Parts: sequence; C-alpha cells; structure tokens
Amino acid sequence: MTAWVVRRPGPMATGPLEKVRLPVPEPAAGEVLVKVEVCAVCRTDLHLAEGDLTPRRPGTVPGHEVVGRVVARGPGADLLPDGARVGVAWLRAACGRCRYCLRGAENLCPYSQYTGWDADGGYAEYLVAPQDFVYRLPEERPADELAPLLCAGIIGYRALVRADLPPGGRLGVYGFGASAHLTTQVALAQGATVHVMTRAGSARRLALELGAASASPAYDAPPEPLDAAILFAPVGDLVPVALAALDRGGTLSVAGIHLSDIPPLVYQDHLFQERTLRSVTANTRADGRALLAFAHRHPLRVTTVPYGLDEADRALSDLAADRVTGAAVLHLGD
Ligand SMILES: [Zn+2]
Ligand SMILES: [Zn+2]
Repeated sequence: MTAWVVRRPGPMATGPLEKVRLPVPEPAAGEVLVKVEVCAVCRTDLHLAEGDLTPRRPGTVPGHEVVGRVVARGPGADLLPDGARVGVAWLRAACGRCRYCLRGAENLCPYSQYTGWDADGGYAEYLVAPQDFVYRLPEERPADELAPLLCAGIIGYRALVRADLPPGGRLGVYGFGASAHLTTQVALAQGATVHVMTRAGSARRLALELGAASASPAYDAPPEPLDAAILFAPVGDLVPVALAALDRGGTLSVAGIHLSDIPPLVYQDHLFQERTLRSVTANTRADGRALLAFAHRHPLRVTTVPYGLDEADRALSDLAADRVTGAAVLHLGD
C-alpha cells in the first residue's frame, strides 16, 4: 500500500514526510483492519512532522481522523462486521487499570497510546486499530464531513466542556481552524454568544458566516468581556491576551497538545478575580461518543479542503502557512 511516514522531523520546507510502499498491516488480537476512505489533517500531524512532539517510534505513519470500513479482523475482534463504517481517532489505547482510567479519565492514562504517534495512522490506504477504540459512524453523511469530527470535533468539544461556559454565556475563540470552526457551532447551538479572534481574514469571514457575533484580529480585545475562552492557536503569547479578556470568574481552556512558551503573567491583570487557566489533554471515548451524538442531532457545517493521498505533504505545508480554511482532508479514492 501507499503510505506517508515521518522520516526526519523538521520544518515542512525540509520535507520531513516521505511517501513509501508498506505491506498492508495484519490486525493483531482485538484489532480490526480498516480500509481508509478519507483522513483529515490535524495540527498535531504538523507538530509530529515538524518535531514539536518527540517521535515515539521511527518512521510512523501520521493521521488520526480516519473514516473507513472494516475489511478484516484479528483474533477475538468480533464487535464489528465486515463493511462496518468506522472512525479511528487519536486515543488508541489506555490501560483500563490505573487510577486515572478507573475514575473515567483515560485521557490521562500514563500508558495511553495514540494513532499516528505510537502506531501507524491514516495517511495510508489501510491501518489497524483496536476494536474497543474505534467509533461506529452513520452511513448518511459523506466521509469527508465525518473525518474532522474525530479529532478537531472531539478535542474542541472537550475544550468547550473544560471552559465551563455558563448557559447563554459569552465565549471567546482564539484561532479559527478546523477545531474552532466546529466548536463554535456547538457553542452556538447551545445558545452561546461567540466572539472570534484570529489572524486570517478568510477565517474571520467563515466565523461570521457560521454565526459568530464578531470576528477580529488575534490580539484585539473582544467587544465585551468573556465568560469563557478557548485558545486553539498554538501561541503562548495569546494566553495573557485571552486571560485579560475574561470577565470575573471566567475560564480559559487551552485546546492544543503543543503551545509555544507562555510569557510571564501578571497576577492582577490575568488571574485575580478568580479567573482560571486550564489545559486539555487528549480526550476520553465518552467525549468522542458525546460529540458524535451531538453532531448527529445538530448537523455541523464542516468546511473542508480536499487533497489526494499523494498531496499529504502539500496539505501539511498549507496548514503550516495558514492557507487552509476549515479542515484539510485527504481523499483516498478507490
Ligand atoms: Zn490507565
Ligand atoms: Zn488531532
């Protein structure tokens, strides 16, 4: 099969990805073999390609927003029939026995494993995944509209929950890529007022089209104080900016897996009056099921930019250069 691997992590201009031929993987016990229909491109793939996240094994295939069909099963994998439409997401395994798993926080499991980091992901024609960690997906929606839900959607959903937005509250969204454009729609469907701060003009236009009350450049103050904010841009300089925009008692939730350094905070300006700063670490399967169920009840408008599998490196370069409005999606074709 054709696949891309991260060969030498570094800036996209240095060509960290390499297109290779690999054997179709064999599903191990409890795993299914999935034929990939589409794989959406996540900023985490870019962090892996560019070396912001340390590789966990050499030559790994990135990609963790996969929509495909089960075509084979390993020993004991009897939950999903052949042809079942499934989604393969970031969280690939958790131990189920540690103190975090036992209290429902499998996203914090020290033994957790991730698709496209610990195991080969979806920038390929096939991948294997544990049956317990794949999601059943509906048949009605096109694959390219489902794929971005699997990380951009799920992580954004968790970040929104962690932001503790009160009912009818005012939410600030910093950065407006794949995850933010979905999360904004979830918040709007829940009755929030959303203010978007982001650098690209095309992203600001999309934000207004989707129903944001305002859209301004990333470092601008929103037109009113915020009850909660989510930082999607991987830019630590925006942390004090977003904290200063919070009303008393507000919460800033940082959605990304990687953030550039946060400058010094000034207690009075950024934290006093019970403002809260929180991180978001991956997601649980319960988050995934909750987001997919929400998206089923409130179909989200998923803005995608299509690429062929052969163009994976170009898709990541476009993402790095802010040239993608919405979510980049690799189409595998047939
Ligand atoms: Zn665990
Ligand atoms: Zn992701």
